[in-house]
Amino acid sequence: MTRVTRFAPSPTGPLHLGHAYSAWVAAERAGAGRFLLRIEDIDRARCRPEWEAQIFDDLDFLGLDWPRPVMRQSDRLPAYRAALGQLAARGVLYPCRCTRADIRAAMSAPQEGAVGPDGLVYPGTCRARPMSDARPDDALRLNMRAALALAGPLCFIENGPLHPGQHRPDPDWMIARVGDVVLARRDMGTSYHLSVVVDDAAQGITEVTRGADLFDATAIHALLQALLELPRPTYWHHELIRDEQGKRLAKRDDARAIACYRADGASAQDIRAMLSL
Ligand code: GLU
Repeated sequence: MTRVTRFAPSPTGPLHLGHAYSAWVAAERAGAGRFLLRIEDIDRARCRPEWEAQIFDDLDFLGLDWPRPVMRQSDRLPAYRAALGQLAARGVLYPCRCTRADIRAAMSAPQEGAVGPDGLVYPGTCRARPMSDARPDDALRLNMRAALALAGPLCFIENGPLHPGQHRPDPDWMIARVGDVVLARRDMGTSYHLSVVVDDAAQGITEVTRGADLFDATAIHALLQALLELPRPTYWHHELIRDEQGKRLAKRDDARAIACYRADGASAQDIRAMLSL
């Protein structure tokens, strides 16, 4: 089978050394197969066309090549709506109008503090609301317990160096530490988790390569793939590039931006050497 990998940056700031590493890992894992680029721009408030242009330019500078036109998530809202329709038909979605403040207030009780890979674990305030009650400005959440019961046992294969092997996400962990994740944010009509799963399938991705910070989210993705009956790619989570203090690089860490190294006259080869590639 031809391996198909992707690099899926969000144009919310300049690419930095960590992105260069991630893109190279994806291209390398594709080998003789296909390396695709996907622009993850569902967060319209934070994404900018100039960052997207810079992404193309930086990746080109790094010596990468990918088929055009690229998939852009802002063009894919009908596909996300269709997936949400499928999940609603399976009875695992509910509308939620809790604000962050509502959630924090509901959690200021003794059992507070459950924070998982998706942030605060939702206390379930709106869980009994039917979809027929959904208003256009509601978020949509996955009823985790119902979804796990419907999907049955989950499994995904990790090929990366950090956690190699077959993983079977524990349903109790998913209920306690992930909880009822938002699949459609009120301001976007979708979410990272839903879009990534729908798009990896649409692009025929056979191996998802990305940073180790997203390893725990893979359980959510495996669940959505099962519910939506999508093919399941294998995964390769790579180590994160950190600064001298051991802190992982962030978009706002402009000093590590590839553009800055370029302005200083560094070549792609110099950047590879900095990353010990
Ligand atoms: N768009 C995400 C990011 O820039 C990557 C998501 C993924 O690779 O699954 O961090």
